[in-house]
Amino acid sequence: MLYRLRDAGHRACLVGGGVRDLLLGREPKDFDIATDARPEQVHALFRNCRLIGRRFRLAHVQFGQEIVEVATFRACGDIGDEGDGPAVERTKDGRILSDNVYGSIEDDAWRRDFTINALYYDIADFAVLDYVGGMADLKAGLIRLIGDPVERYHEDPVRMLRAVRFAAKLGFRLDPATEAPLQRLGHLLEQIPPARLFDEILKLFMGGSAIQTFELLRHYRLFGWLFPATERCLNRQQHHYPKTLLAHALVNTDQRLAEGKSIHPAFLFAALLWEPFRERLQHFEAENLDAHEAQQAAAEAVVQAQIRHTSLPRRYSLPMREIWEMQQRLTCITGKRPLRLLAHPRFRAAYDFLLLRGEADESARELADWWTRLLAQDESGRNRMTQPATSAKKSKPRRRRKPRSARKRAPATSPAPEA
Ligand code: ATP
Ligand code: MG
Repeated sequence: MLYRLRDAGHRACLVGGGVRDLLLGREPKDFDIATDARPEQVHALFRNCRLIGRRFRLAHVQFGQEIVEVATFRACGDIGDEGDGPAVERTKDGRILSDNVYGSIEDDAWRRDFTINALYYDIADFAVLDYVGGMADLKAGLIRLIGDPVERYHEDPVRMLRAVRFAAKLGFRLDPATEAPLQRLGHLLEQIPPARLFDEILKLFMGGSAIQTFELLRHYRLFGWLFPATERCLNRQQHHYPKTLLAHALVNTDQRLAEGKSIHPAFLFAALLWEPFRERLQHFEAENLDAHEAQQAAAEAVVQAQIRHTSLPRRYSLPMREIWEMQQRLTCITGKRPLRLLAHPRFRAAYDFLLLRGEADESARELADWWTRLLAQDESGRNRMTQPATSAKKSKPRRRRKPRSARKRAPATSPAPEA
């Protein structure tokens, strides 16, 4: 691709995460290309090419399985604006709305976020071009914003999240000037469209360093701007229970990714929003709703509150709610129901979630152990284990009968799931 652009008379360099990760000896997640060709010119050169973005117009070129981003060199636009292309649009507090002023490669370097992200690999002479001191920072393990950090965070507050993400992922330190404003600028994230925050959250927690990222987000008081309800629960909790559940979930996520296994965002969100859900559930149960109605109302309230801050597409929120709802159904351990539950498409995720809860909660652990034992049995063993209470020695007697409507959906038998 680089060569196709060059052969058409354009300058083209590899830039961003690709160059950074290659220099660090890590496998790059994707490749970005910067060129002096205009988006329309790129479009004309590649068949599988789409132009995207308004705020930041670029070309996506399909390359086998992968999509390569091709961006035209940009200038900051404010200084020496050559009237070439549309001007940089800003809000009154400095946030950039559209950034489509084209410029030279050096201009392009200066408008990038961090020095280590502004290294160019030029295929014309196989040299690494460094206009902003990125090489030195790469060697020193430093995340440093280019230019004035406060101004750059105002231009695009998502850079705060990116700073944390790269620090966690690469194990780098934040340069003091880059670090200092973070704790007080979190509120700027309120201006970011919820859909962009959602995309960023996936990158934050599905990049393989979720637990470090979480700790840093909390440290810099950014987490609460993404998950306000969870943040309130975390601050209220005395005995570290939710933090332990969330921390375990994030460690788990990192482990699974390291083993090449997949992660479903619904599971991640189920963990991130579990504690607010539990609180709401208790609230609705106290209002005498039956178990099913209380679940629905609590899940709905949590989702509605969350989507005011970040979006949460239904393809993730629905399975997330199923994982929560099944926590109740997993408490039924006699009769045919537990055996039927094994065939439920969401059983595995719900069981994994129960295991997670068991890490921090004694009674959830007992229940999780029961399911682990059940899974290890053959058919006759499973039948034996799920015999009704009278003939099964292990299960305790039912304490309390739920009203009929609740029993129909979620018949609770011991051990009780909630602490
Ligand atoms: P990775 O792909 O590993 O997450 P990356 O550094 O490649 O990391 P991308 O989001 O792919 O990150 O962006 C590519 C490059 O575009 C960055 O390296 C940076 O130079 C520039 N860039 C991305 N987002 C911004 C931003 N918000 N402000 C300034 N420059 C940015
Ligand atoms: Mg990239």
